[in-house]
Amino acid sequence: MILTVKEILDATEGKLLSGDINICVSGISTDSRTIKSGDLFIPLKGERFNGEEFIDDALNVASASLTESINYIRHDNKPIIFVKDTKDALHRIAKYYRSKFDIPFIAVTGSSGKTTTKDMIYDVLSMKYNVLKTIGNFNNEIGLPLTLFKLNDDHEMAVVEMGMSGFGEIRRLKNIASPNVAVYTNIGVAHIEKLGSRENILKAKSELIEDFKDGDTIVINADDDMLIKLLDKKGPKFVTYGINNGNIKAFDIELKEESSKYKVLIDGCVLDVELNVPGKHNIYNSLAAICIGIQFDVNKDDIRKALSEFQPSAMRLNIIDAFGIKIINDVYNANPSSMKAALSVLGGYAGKRKIAVLGNMLELGQYADVAHREVGEHVKENDIDVLITVGDYALKIADGAVEKGMDKNNVFRCGNNAEAIDVIKNIMKESDVFLVKGSRGMKMEEIVKFLQESA
Ligand code: ATP
Ligand code: MG
Repeated sequence: MILTVKEILDATEGKLLSGDINICVSGISTDSRTIKSGDLFIPLKGERFNGEEFIDDALNVASASLTESINYIRHDNKPIIFVKDTKDALHRIAKYYRSKFDIPFIAVTGSSGKTTTKDMIYDVLSMKYNVLKTIGNFNNEIGLPLTLFKLNDDHEMAVVEMGMSGFGEIRRLKNIASPNVAVYTNIGVAHIEKLGSRENILKAKSELIEDFKDGDTIVINADDDMLIKLLDKKGPKFVTYGINNGNIKAFDIELKEESSKYKVLIDGCVLDVELNVPGKHNIYNSLAAICIGIQFDVNKDDIRKALSEFQPSAMRLNIIDAFGIKIINDVYNANPSSMKAALSVLGGYAGKRKIAVLGNMLELGQYADVAHREVGEHVKENDIDVLITVGDYALKIADGAVEKGMDKNNVFRCGNNAEAIDVIKNIMKESDVFLVKGSRGMKMEEIVKFLQESA
């Protein structure tokens, strides 16, 4: 990456306080601890930090810096650019930098499965192209720009993840990345606290495609009752996928404990897909990747190969064999639909004692009670043998399970991870299968660590 100070000034409408306009930067960093020589430092304000305080430190290494202080003085020749708002400047520079690349841009959004779908799409497209993808879960207004700065002339396309918790957020991300292909996984109730209804979640996610036109493509899960409403939009091409509906439809599905198989019809030929990851939800994620593979002419055998070799990211339904016991580690995050998806994977372990350790799902606002209770009902429906809940909201998971008929002697209500670990110590037996899952704030990896160490 090479940008001149002049280009940065133009993109940000900033003012040069010192230094030379022709100096080039070769990278962008918002973190003074990991900054490299040649970087432009962009100081951001967080809840617990103010990047402005680190400009001096950063400039020991960096080549230039932005600042919101009009009076910032520097006595060497390193360029200092004043801007009104450094975050807005980050967006403007990212948008400008992205505009230098005339390549297909795929944006993945939805309530659950974004990262997994993005990674599967990347694996499929990488069979044929040099692709840039969102690093990990960098799906917000900081992570997306930082991803875009990784673009270089070798990239033939990009696949980026877009997350949100309220109106306007996806619009901001869309304006920066200008995608021309959108992939929608599903509309659940994640982040419903701010938005109030699934209709509003759909509306907020629709910001992604508000200026899609002829020649652009929208890929949707046609089994999602909300997403099908997008089909009314005139102009862009729609590609749909699903198990019950869709152009690309999975059939002859075999769900196994740690993998699955299905068939799909492409141009009149049957493609046998084997997935290395369990759960019906991953069939959906992989169908989206197949749609994109077809759209960009990836050979069918290559699509199949990429999916059969797919490895999920850390803490997302990772199955760990720990000396006798099995741990389904899904502690990365939780919302109602991902809880249900994970419970059905645990439910697939017939003949083993199945233990679900489930923590609070956060950010559900007024839906919290109902959503936790419904998860409890799913615990019973999936024949889970023992339920251990962690946290206040999760008490309703326990209530839902017991109301649905689960034996209350097999339901343990814990206030925190330490209490849950005590319960596990008392009941754990060889060959148990554990699912551990809760919202990020619940830090349930503590329980996974205990299980791994004590097995
Ligand atoms: P985040 O909003 O935190 O970025 P995400 O949408 O990127 O999440 P993933 O990280 O891909 O989602 O998956 C998180 C968890 O959600 C998985 O471990 C799994 O339990 C569940 N999940 C994944 N795909 C789906 C899906 N298509 N439908 C429902 N649940 C899913
Ligand atoms: Mg994600």
